[in-house]
Amino acid sequence: MPEGPEIHRAADRLRKALVGKTLVEVHAEHPAVAGRLDGWVGREVESVEARSKAMLIRVGDHVLYSHNQLYGRWTVNRASTAPPDWKRSLRVALINRTHACRLWSASDVMLLEPWEVEGHPYIAQLGPDIADLLTTVAEVRAHIDEDRFQRRGLAGLMLDQRFIAGVGNYLRSEILFEAGVDPTRRLGQLNANEKDALADAAMIITRRAYHQKGVTVDLETYQIMRESGVARRSARHYVFHRDGMACHRCQSTIVHGRVGGRRLDVCPACQT
Ligand SMILES: [Zn+2]
Repeated sequence: MPEGPEIHRAADRLRKALVGKTLVEVHAEHPAVAGRLDGWVGREVESVEARSKAMLIRVGDHVLYSHNQLYGRWTVNRASTAPPDWKRSLRVALINRTHACRLWSASDVMLLEPWEVEGHPYIAQLGPDIADLLTTVAEVRAHIDEDRFQRRGLAGLMLDQRFIAGVGNYLRSEILFEAGVDPTRRLGQLNANEKDALADAAMIITRRAYHQKGVTVDLETYQIMRESGVARRSARHYVFHRDGMACHRCQSTIVHGRVGGRRLDVCPACQT
């Protein structure tokens, strides 16, 4: 499942292909929007915005909301290129003279009016969006201090979009490693310095993942790992998918854990 940095990168691609350009063809196959986007032909796309794992595309007085859940995916092609031939079902296609943007397989699609966006049940409950470049470390730090989160265990809390929005499985492991914190602790057990470290780590790791296409280690480490034959899914991280390998910082063996059936990997020496 894509995490914040991947959704924001997808928004960047859609923005580049769509904003300020006139739509020449629109398909709305998803039942919630079928027949409702016909008026978009001949109009310009005004904005494309990612909010945690949701995408918002505005044309005139309407905003197309989509959340990819597990299987949804946006593709961007040249308008002259045939659509991909695969088993996914087309939900929405937005086509202008140069590009064709298509949403596949997403189950959660709807049309909102601009004033409805902030009150949408998914968007209204989100914490600070860690992959949004406008989010500040001070906002994240203040949110970490909120009473409602203090009794929660970090392993579960890190995936709660009300806490830090945009964090999924790989970011959880990587952020907790960078912060030096053991995921079995409760948030309220962290002292102020540890909470500072958690806020900083969330920013550092997520921005790196955004700019480096999912790579959370520095690019030099990534290159060295790749050249020594390590698979990309392990080479790109400090701990995630690196169980049994040596920690880059202390050489201890990375340990694999699972929480609620989802992978969570840690360095038992660096994370206390
Ligand atoms: Zn270590």
